[in-house]
Amino acid sequence: MAKILSGKELAQKMREEMKAELSELKEKHNLVPALAVVLVGDDPASMSYVKGKEKACAEVGIDVQKYKFDADYEENSLLKLIADLNNNPEVHGILVQLPLPEHIDEEKVLYAIDPEKDVDGFHPINVGRLMIGAPGYVPGTPHGIQKMLSRNGIDISGMHVVILGRSNIVGKPLALLLVQKKEEANATVTICHTGTKNIGEITKLADVLVVAAGRPHTVNADMVKEGAVVIDVGVNRVEDKTKKSGFRLIGDVEFEEVAAKASAISPVPGGVGPMTITMLLHNVIIAARKQRGIKV
Ligand code: NAP
Repeated sequence: MAKILSGKELAQKMREEMKAELSELKEKHNLVPALAVVLVGDDPASMSYVKGKEKACAEVGIDVQKYKFDADYEENSLLKLIADLNNNPEVHGILVQLPLPEHIDEEKVLYAIDPEKDVDGFHPINVGRLMIGAPGYVPGTPHGIQKMLSRNGIDISGMHVVILGRSNIVGKPLALLLVQKKEEANATVTICHTGTKNIGEITKLADVLVVAAGRPHTVNADMVKEGAVVIDVGVNRVEDKTKKSGFRLIGDVEFEEVAAKASAISPVPGGVGPMTITMLLHNVIIAARKQRGIKV
């Protein structure tokens, strides 16, 4: 049976480390990092993500300023708010929860965020920095996956990592991160997507298989090499009448059968999700340190 890569436990451990760092920052520099969170509309999933982020910030000692607007909030007003937050020295990080309502140009809004406060790592400047291996803000999910591997003693240098999915928030940045000639990286990376032929043959070559397709049952045991490490990023709601909510969350991987073949596997829930939020906290701390001129 595979080792379970618990993101929940690792995230807890890393948040304890952050708490210690934050009390030192407060004591020595009178610095409490602050994150502005902007939410437009009342999409239930977005509200729940924001709640999770607020809770995690409070737990470690990061201040949150929440800006919540109705779904008809105007794009110009949002751009004005972002400009104000960019210029506010009391705000170190800015997070605009996606998706935004259709009448707002998401790209315009994300590009308006000062790259030095872009703790989600979605601004093209930070994407470019990631590409060339320069210091910047790495998006939380790929960064969380990298830490999940390294902190579990999985050295991916020289390994073949196959990533199923090429989104701008998971697949592509993860490939850029893991291919760098650096510690916790130096892997040989292949990206698969819906245009890939014979996916199962490629995934079977993976020493580390990362699945971020957003579709349940995408990967079964036949697609996985014996002893591979499998990271399941997918989060899918499936009906479950035994639950009070009426649903439960599953990943993209057939967990039981793949766990019987893999050497290690991340669960859903309790896998990549908590790591994503943890790396957001990390970025807010880095942003605050940099803006105060404190060594990172
Ligand atoms: P996305 O933008 O929908 O991208 C999915 C990618 O998977 C696309 O590149 C798509 O290919 C590819 N794909 C889908 N089905 C496939 C299949 N059967 N075979 C091969 N490739 C396939 O999704 P995302 O934003 O990257 O998110 C992926 C999943 O991760 C979702 O379930 C999301 O909820 C979850 N997620 C979790 C976290 C977390 O913190 N736990 C964070 C982010 C995302 P094409 O490009 O060809 O369409």
